Amino acid sequence: MGKGPQYDRGMALPVNPQNQKQEHTGSYYAATAERTNYPELEGSRSADVCVVGAGFTGVATSLTLAERGYSVALVEANRVGWGATGRNGGQLINGVSGLEKIEKKLGEKVSDLIWDIRWRGHDIVYERVNKYGIQCDLKSGYVEVATKPRQVACIEEAAAELEQRRFPYGFEVWDREQTRDMLGTDAFHGGFLNQRDGHLHPLNLCIGEARAASQLGVQIFEQSPVTEIRHGARPTVVTARGSVEADSVVLAGNAYGQFKPKAMSNLVFPAGSYVIATEPLSDERAREINARDAAVCDLNEIVDYYRLSADKRLLYGGACNYSGRDPADIKSYILPRMLRIYPQLKDVRIDYQWGGMIGIVLNRIVAVGRVKGNVYYCMGYSGHGVSATHVMGEIMADAVTGTMERYDLFAGMKHFRIPGSQWFGNQIIALGMLYYRIKDRL
Ligand SMILES: Cc1cc2nc3c(=O)[nH]c(=O)nc-3n(C[C@H](O)[C@H](O)[C@H](O)COP(=O)(O)OP(=O)(O)OC[C@H]3O[C@@H](n4cnc5c(N)ncnc54)[C@H](O)[C@@H]3O)c2cc1C
Repeated sequence: MGKGPQYDRGMALPVNPQNQKQEHTGSYYAATAERTNYPELEGSRSADVCVVGAGFTGVATSLTLAERGYSVALVEANRVGWGATGRNGGQLINGVSGLEKIEKKLGEKVSDLIWDIRWRGHDIVYERVNKYGIQCDLKSGYVEVATKPRQVACIEEAAAELEQRRFPYGFEVWDREQTRDMLGTDAFHGGFLNQRDGHLHPLNLCIGEARAASQLGVQIFEQSPVTEIRHGARPTVVTARGSVEADSVVLAGNAYGQFKPKAMSNLVFPAGSYVIATEPLSDERAREINARDAAVCDLNEIVDYYRLSADKRLLYGGACNYSGRDPADIKSYILPRMLRIYPQLKDVRIDYQWGGMIGIVLNRIVAVGRVKGNVYYCMGYSGHGVSATHVMGEIMADAVTGTMERYDLFAGMKHFRIPGSQWFGNQIIALGMLYYRIKDRL
């Protein structure tokens, strides 16, 4: 540490109260996950790569590097999977936000590469669950549902694309009647089931992947908020009681990161999304509302999403909040949305309610780049990140070890920034989302 000639100006990170050594939120996932207890970072350490943030992005980057024989230190402010990773809808959905825009900009020559990136996250998840024996209730099956007649065209387009690509996994287009039979509601005009997508217990997946990483030698530190990064030939990541010097650093704090060097300010905006979990439903009721036990998500700009947990609770989420403030009562915010789809569940008890922050990027392309030299960042999945984080972790592992092809696709994209403070940016985002909310209602 200290101010040796190898360092230029340090990058102080503002104190983020959310990063003050918190335990997990009161989610269904936290209540049903094993506890992790990795030590706090103390003293001076060294590694090939230091990764900041132990959500899916940070853990996937670390595990990929460890599988390739690199030494890694993974530093987490709270607990493994504490952020969006341990709180999300658990829907394993193909794609990485912004891929269509990249393809539009770069043309057909990247089409196959983009197609591979779109599905690569799934391969990684399925492979790791098998290879490391991770118990995360992984199930295949995901349905996109049309809440308006005009959205049925999107379903037909999606099916045509898979046909044209000779997609090797099952998929089905459902008309209104089939959708009603499968999902026990009249709310949808059609559905599109994809068997390669699916759902899982995200916190258990992340904890299982961290365990695999640790067994491969990754030094994991919890309860260790990073407060400063000192740049130089070997940058140093600093916490209250320790530091890690590495050849490269990857910042993976997503919406919780608040790393604020010029290169990253006003790039990613936090937006709240909220989930409730019912009491376990009877087998009969579970079958009635989700015969194929698939994850379900609507086709609106501001999505509602739901699925059954392994113990047959209905986990229902949605209602993105861009104001930066969480609703006082999550249940009363989300429950009416759930009952609009399933009025028959009006007497069902709600056992859990929680929220988390999604990282929104204005142009919706995952923000990837370097703060400076060998300090990289990857953040802003704008909604769907369970699968995307896994391929992006691989792309970041490639980049810090010198393979830039896929990294350059993302890093070469121009990002818009809202001038002024992050607060001002949040208000602009909230206005933009009001527009989408109105559009969704039309
Ligand atoms: C309620 C909700 C529902 C969602 N549902 C889905 C879904 O069903 N399907 C889907 O694909 N995606 C979903 N998402 C999005 C998905 O969860 C995220 O895109 C993904 O988890 C992002 O992972 P990450 O590792 O980049 O960030 P996070 O999981 O947020 O992890 C960032 C980590 O960095 C740590 N950190 C931040 N600052 C510091 C610091 N200074 N020092 C050390 N550590 C730090 C944080 O403590 C945190 O653990 C949902 C998100 C939310 C909030």
